[in-house]
Parts: sequence; C-alpha cells; structure tokens
Amino acid sequence: GEGLPRPEQTRVIVVANQKGGVGKTTTTVNLAASLAMHGARVLVIDLDPQGNASTALGIDHHAEVPSIYDVLVESKPLADVVQPVRDVEGLFCAPATIDLAGAEIELVSLVARESRLQRAIQSYDQPLDYILIDCPPSLGLLTVNALVAGVEVLIPIQCEYYALEGLGQLLRNVELVRGHLNPQLHVSTILLTMYDARTRLAAQVAQEVRSHFGEEVLRTAIPRSVRVSEAPSYGQTVLTYDPGSTGALSYFEAAREIAQRGGPHVSHGGRQGSTY
Ligand code: ADP
Ligand code: MG
Repeated sequence: GEGLPRPEQTRVIVVANQKGGVGKTTTTVNLAASLAMHGARVLVIDLDPQGNASTALGIDHHAEVPSIYDVLVESKPLADVVQPVRDVEGLFCAPATIDLAGAEIELVSLVARESRLQRAIQSYDQPLDYILIDCPPSLGLLTVNALVAGVEVLIPIQCEYYALEGLGQLLRNVELVRGHLNPQLHVSTILLTMYDARTRLAAQVAQEVRSHFGEEVLRTAIPRSVRVSEAPSYGQTVLTYDPGSTGALSYFEAAREIAQRGGPHVSHGGRQGSTY
C-alpha cells in the first residue's frame, strides 16, 4: 500500500475512556491494522479482561494462553506472550485472558504496581513503530499502568448525548499520572466515533467536542457502520473484512492523520512540549 510517514521512535498510544461501548477496542484494532497495512510495525496490547481486542484480531486467548496477565503479575517478558496477527503483516498482539480480571486486585500488593507495563515495554527489544494499548472501561490500576507506559492518550468519543460526561475524571487522571509518574503523558488525539451524519445530535456533539478540545480532535470522524460491528465476529478488523467500506476508509483516514501529525516531538498546537 501507499506509505505513511514512519515515526523516528516507537509511539506508545493509550486508547482510554472509562465509559464502555464508546469504540475504544474498535478504534484500537482498526487503527493498528490501518497502520500495519501501510508498512508500520504495530503491537496491540489488550488490557481489557474481556479480551475483545484479542478476539477482533483473531488471536487465541483462552485461559491457558500466555497473556498480558503473566507480564503484569508474573513478570513474564512481553516477547513471550506476543502473537502475530494472521492476514496482516507487521501487526502483533499481546492478548488478554480472563485472568486479567483478577489483576486489578493482585497488582495492589506488588512492587512498582503502576509501572509494570512500562517496564515490560522498555525490555521489549523487537522494533516497533507503534504500540496501541486498549484499556478497560475503568480508571483502575490496569488503566494507570497504560497511562504510565504511554506517551500519547487517544480518547474515542461516541457522538451521543452525555458524550463529554465523565471525561473530566479521565483528564484529571491523566494530569495526576503526568504530575507524579510520567511527565511525557498528554492527550494527543480525540476521535469521534459512531458518527451518524443524519442526526442533528451527532453534529451538535461533534461541534461541542471540537470547541472543547480544538486541535486534538481528528478531522476524520468514524461513521456508524454495520460492517465495522460485524468484523470482530469473523476475527477480523474491518480493514480486511471489507476494505472498501466507509468504516475501513474512515479508519484509514484517521490513521493517516495520526501518522502525519507525528509523535510528541511535533507540536500541533496542543499542550505538549516534551521531546525525545
Ligand atoms: P469499547 O471498547 O469502548 O467498550 P467497542 O469498540 O467494543 O467499545 O464498541 C462498542 C460496540 O459498538 C461494539 O459492539 C462495536 O462493534 C460497536 N461499534 C464500534 N464502532 C462502531 C461503528 N463505527 N459502527 C458501528 N458499530 C460500532
Ligand atoms: Mg473495549
């Protein structure tokens, strides 16, 4: 496919929003596939005990499969759990199994409980252009581990009533982690998901989000599309399931924007001032 600009260093992007059903997992896997299909090497880290990202990537994640739980709780090297994604060259996944549901509690009593994912990523020596971390719908220790490990936060926002409600809590958590544990962390990207162009409400919400966040909001909004929601049941992203669909094209456009904006060393009017 046509090339996208390649980051100079691995970009670690945390996909977070403590609301469930806003499109975190869908966004993680479809952006990851878009980037990989255009030449990037991409690792998806599934940090949700539901394992929806693993499912959508066609990755086996039954209870015996080595998983991100083993990395976080048993200090297993990340390389020992990463699996290649069938059909998409350059795309990899560290799966989540149901064990991860207990990790939120088990982590509490472990040393360096907030930075275990960060350490695992730092010790991973395979070359990668992007790491995308799919967070669970909560702000517990799993999400904190993602925020400590990452540099950029991508927030998917569903274009519905109450879209902005609860976001303050996420933003405060980002500030807390930035202040205490990870000075590089910043909200780099907002993506409008499940956009229904026929409704006035969607347009109003989009307008509100754009005036609130400005530059961080991608120009591309992801439309509501049946093909997007069908793809996971075939263990596929919409990029391989129906490459010509509006969902696939929109996710590719969003990926292009993200690639072209570059990492945190490229300022685009946001608050970030950090450099590598
Ligand atoms: P989260 O990870 O935030 O809980 P998901 O990505 O699992 O959210 O999405 C929630 C539900 O909405 C899923 O059933 C998913 O298939 C569906 N969905 C997500 N994005 C779209 C879209 N653009 N069009 C149609 N359905 C979508
Ligand atoms: Mg999810």
